[in-house]
Amino acid sequence: MTPIESGRTRYIFVTGGVVSSLGKGIAAASLGVLLKERGLRVTLQKLDPYINVDPGTLSPLQHGEVFVTEDGAETDLDLGHYERFIDANLSQENNTTSGRIYRAVIDRERRGDYLGRTVQVIPHITDEIKRSVRVLAEGHDVVISEVGGTVGDIESLPFLEGIRQFRQEVGPRALHVHLTLVPYIRAAGELKTKPTQHSVRELMQTGIQPAVLVCRTEHPLDDEIKAKIAGFTNVDPAGVVEALDVDTIYQVPLEFRRQRLDDFVLSRFGIEAPAPPSGLTGWRRIVERIKSPRGGTVRIAVVGKYTALVDAYKSIEQALIHGGIANDANVEIDWIGGEKLEQGLDPAFLVGYHGLLVPGGFGRRGIEGMITAVRWARENGLPFLGICLGLQCAVIEFARNVAGLSGAHSFEFDRESPHPVICLMDEQRKVTTKGGTMRLGSYEARLNPGSLAARVYGRTAITERHRHRYEVNNDYRTALKGKGLNFSATTTDGKLVEMIELPGHPWFVGSQSHPEFKSRPTSAHPLFASFIEAGAARAAGTVTPRAAALGA
Ligand code: GLN
Repeated sequence: MTPIESGRTRYIFVTGGVVSSLGKGIAAASLGVLLKERGLRVTLQKLDPYINVDPGTLSPLQHGEVFVTEDGAETDLDLGHYERFIDANLSQENNTTSGRIYRAVIDRERRGDYLGRTVQVIPHITDEIKRSVRVLAEGHDVVISEVGGTVGDIESLPFLEGIRQFRQEVGPRALHVHLTLVPYIRAAGELKTKPTQHSVRELMQTGIQPAVLVCRTEHPLDDEIKAKIAGFTNVDPAGVVEALDVDTIYQVPLEFRRQRLDDFVLSRFGIEAPAPPSGLTGWRRIVERIKSPRGGTVRIAVVGKYTALVDAYKSIEQALIHGGIANDANVEIDWIGGEKLEQGLDPAFLVGYHGLLVPGGFGRRGIEGMITAVRWARENGLPFLGICLGLQCAVIEFARNVAGLSGAHSFEFDRESPHPVICLMDEQRKVTTKGGTMRLGSYEARLNPGSLAARVYGRTAITERHRHRYEVNNDYRTALKGKGLNFSATTTDGKLVEMIELPGHPWFVGSQSHPEFKSRPTSAHPLFASFIEAGAARAAGTVTPRAAALGA
């Protein structure tokens, strides 16, 4: 075995079979963690077979959250897992789709770059797929590329062909990992390997031989079953890894390490890792804190739009869990659709919670319900964190019920509102380069010294990721401020509001950006850590709702 030489990047391709939702993203990210712990420079990539150029236009209820990177790319939610697991900021390059691949090829065709040749899936589309993988080699020892969907899907065929060719070209510097399911049939009292055999056979028909099989299972795989799977699939028994159901996703790297998956992959690549296995102490601590926190339970109500699918707010969910890790507290989250409050749910149900979070969203469904929930939180001293649309709801609520601006609304929801306290600002209308009029990606903000926000962040200059079109209307800033709403952060030029808070309330913060995208299990985002801390204080009864609301 030799140390890894620069310019000799290794490639791992992760595919999935049998059924979807096996946790391919988590598996890929966990392998990334192990290799990173061994001193290798690792990056992760998602290759999505759908035709949309990016998931920005997809309903979060169908496809889950749109994860926004520093450079303003709207990407698949798996990129959130990747960032959280390997603790690195990724970019547009780390997520591509069939739509993006085809668009690049068609653009070239229109420019005449193909010099009259027929443009075809093979080699042109597959070349572009390989190019999109290769661009990540720079500065990385290992590139892990996950192919979305399941083997056998018609739409993933060009990707499978692309990664097959890739392996053919770089030889043992690439290997394939395949994720399958080993179901337990209760009536027979047995684990069944047949679906795995079929799935690998299907993969092999595309010319791909997996080196590693990650088998999702409810029961441990004994050596006999591993040997059986290995025998049917030409995989080394040491490459058959069990992925048992676990209590928290952050346990998966530990499970893989227990089975020495990193050692196996390194030996297949024929490289020596710069560092020995680390013991993953940080990850052990995280898992321990999630499974048996020493503090009490903090109950958070998330009142939002896409609450029917937990994946739609994946980063919010994870950031709240990170807040729990930071406070050694157990966090329980309930997801409540804003429209429930419009249909008669009394906002006093919030008395059973220690914090309210109103997350981002687009379109008017459920907005009045969210505003009602914010009002209850404001009036009853319930810790409140508003994110993007959540900040906007808080501003509308304050304008209507404190500043007496009746009919105040966002221009997004009511074009006729007499008081459009949230609207399109001139600066915003000029932003047309990225995603139309959306403010996307990382922007700098200045925090008012002395604000709760500045205290929480521990500094006054921050950058956070954005994904929104509307802004607090500057015409109302003076009026709202006069009534006690503190604009605690703005863009560096002071022109756009970035954060709000309510002095006198125990913890009431709105952020126009999405801090959840930057939270990591190893370092909870300060806003989420502080929000959960405030929730824990409420749970412990340190803050009595009435007194707090009165600023006593
Ligand atoms: N719909 C709002 C806007 O476009 C909020 C967006 C969001 O919450 N991400 O400004």
